[in-house]
Amino acid sequence: RVSPNRLPVFQECRRRHWLETRGGLKPEPIAPGGQARQLRGMPSNVDSATLGTVFHRIVEIGIGNPGLNGEPASSPLPAMWTEGREDLLCDPETHSTAFNELLPPDADLERTGLLVTAMAKRIDSGPVGRMVHSERVNGHRLEGLRTELPFHIALEADTKGSVRKRWSTEGPELLARVDKAIIEMSGIIDLVLCTATSNGESTIRAVDLKTEDAGLVDSDSTEGLLEALDSDVAGPACEAEFEILSKHRLQLALYYKALHSIEEARKRANLSSRTVLSPAILIGVTGRMVEYPKEMLERASQEIEELLVRTAGMALDSDTPLSDFARLPADSAHICESCPFHRGALPICGPADE
Ligand code: SF4
Repeated sequence: RVSPNRLPVFQECRRRHWLETRGGLKPEPIAPGGQARQLRGMPSNVDSATLGTVFHRIVEIGIGNPGLNGEPASSPLPAMWTEGREDLLCDPETHSTAFNELLPPDADLERTGLLVTAMAKRIDSGPVGRMVHSERVNGHRLEGLRTELPFHIALEADTKGSVRKRWSTEGPELLARVDKAIIEMSGIIDLVLCTATSNGESTIRAVDLKTEDAGLVDSDSTEGLLEALDSDVAGPACEAEFEILSKHRLQLALYYKALHSIEEARKRANLSSRTVLSPAILIGVTGRMVEYPKEMLERASQEIEELLVRTAGMALDSDTPLSDFARLPADSAHICESCPFHRGALPICGPADE
């Protein structure tokens, strides 16, 4: 079993993959301590992971649903996906509910409130918010949506004859040779949008919300993700958007595969199905919904297959010591900077020449 949100870090560093799976370590510093990085504009006592969790909760409980307005769905949807609901994304009461549930008692509530209000407004005036308010966007009319959709997917991996052995007084004894493995993954998709296009096509799309650079949302900065603030391009429009799409490509490609397998199962059962669109990242600081370019999605699907082969081999093969997985080279030190095993009072790993 692999958690989808571990895929990006496992892809970045094979050694971290080993430490978190075969090594059984939690993705946390071995001994707490050291200097935590304070990001620009962030509220005191609220780290970016907590702010991200708070904002995800706000979207989960606050986003509206236009419902079908008496029109039939282009392809049937469960009733809860099409139930009309007022949009409360920018409502201070929605924000307070999430703050009470998730913020630590010493959190800077005023600054947190300013940041989430600014992000909620950006999303509300971006493509997702406009569709929620019944506007047709790029020819798409929203028919239904679901937040926090759980999914389960099982993918086959060729383990190339991994060998399981056990210790015996006469030397290692062969127990089994494994040629194929099934890797199961369960996860939750932040948002799934079902639309009908102007030419009558039914579609479905996985959307993942990201709150990177949240501390800058109310600044006049035009750096990073904010560079694309006024763009209406469907795909990535600046370097930072390419980077964020690239960073999360495996996770989003997996969501695409999960929706695809659901729609294929419907087809096989002679039920009407939806065309699965390229997944997208909803950028909190700009409200942009950035779609994955086809080539990036295809490459990521290929990478998932390679990563699953490695994951299965690592789990099944008796001879996979940590020494088979070298530290990252110095020119990848920026990856180690965000690795928990390189942080804290007792870092156990780091770039090769440290
Ligand atoms: S510190 Fe760097 S090399 Fe070591 S596990 Fe983390 S990312 Fe990999």
